[in-house]
Amino acid sequence: MPSRRALIGGVAASVAAAVLAAPQVRAQTQPGVIVVGGGFAGASCARALKRLDRDLAVTLIEPKAAYLACPFSNAVIAGLRGIEAQAFRYDQFGDIALVRKRAVAVDAERRRVRLEDGTDIGYTRLVLAPGVDLRFDALPGYDEAATAIMPHAWKAGAQTLLLRDQLAAMPDGGVVILAAPANPFRCPPGPYERASLIAHYLKASKPHSKLIILDAKDAFSKQRLFEAAWQELYPGLIEWVPLSSGGRVTEVDPATGTLVTEFGNHKAD
Ligand SMILES: Cc1cc2nc3c(=O)[nH]c(=O)nc-3n(C[C@H](O)[C@H](O)[C@H](O)COP(=O)(O)OP(=O)(O)OC[C@H]3O[C@@H](n4cnc5c(N)ncnc54)[C@H](O)[C@@H]3O)c2cc1C
Repeated sequence: MPSRRALIGGVAASVAAAVLAAPQVRAQTQPGVIVVGGGFAGASCARALKRLDRDLAVTLIEPKAAYLACPFSNAVIAGLRGIEAQAFRYDQFGDIALVRKRAVAVDAERRRVRLEDGTDIGYTRLVLAPGVDLRFDALPGYDEAATAIMPHAWKAGAQTLLLRDQLAAMPDGGVVILAAPANPFRCPPGPYERASLIAHYLKASKPHSKLIILDAKDAFSKQRLFEAAWQELYPGLIEWVPLSSGGRVTEVDPATGTLVTEFGNHKAD
């Protein structure tokens, strides 16, 4: 299987190939290619297109001044790294035009992208790379307001810092609960990497605390490796509750810090 990086590179290259094959795109300077979203996908694509053809007009639409990366954000949660190390600015994007606005609609027939301020920009080719978002209808009790109490920290930035600060404020002897979803989801080892880094923090700073992983499945990615490492590095600190032992969270009550499972309730600090 190709790596994610290779895949992203491949997608960018094939988009580039499609664009470069279209003579009308090369002939005109405006409009050219619009890329919506300056994350790993969009930013890599915009830069790759420009690298392949300096004459191609490339516009990147991204509302944020800096991108806060998720990779390594678990180290921020564990207090091993500052959030500023996660930030990547767009200043050095050279002759890629940056539009610091949110795209709100696409008119594919007229080939125009509408921006949040009501203006629109024309394109010859369009790349949409806005990433993924959370669905707040998936877990009863977990709405947008709940994220201020029970952080998901799936988006780097305020959520990362909230989780870090909650861990720092928790008394020694507190209970941390991490709910891991059923398959399929992106980055299968993700929850267990986060669990490992939280355990690292607890061992060093709050050794009487406990981390419970409520899991909606009976097996997880790289399980033997993770469990061997937990046994060696954090003995007794992590409790993994699989699906068959009542690990699936069916509801949450943020006001009381309660997670409801098929086998009973858990309260988290
Ligand atoms: C905790 C955590 C750890 C991770 N660790 C790793 C790792 O170690 N290695 C790895 O490969 N992956 C890792 N990932 C996954 C990785 O972060 C994602 O796969 C990657 O961010 C996806 O890139 P993207 O460009 O598709 O989307 P995103 O990174 O989400 O970027 C989307 C961009 O689009 C912008 N945008 C959204 N809507 C609009 C709009 N309407 N108009 C304009 N702009 C818009 C957003 O502001 C954002 O900048 C991790 C994820 C998490 C949550």
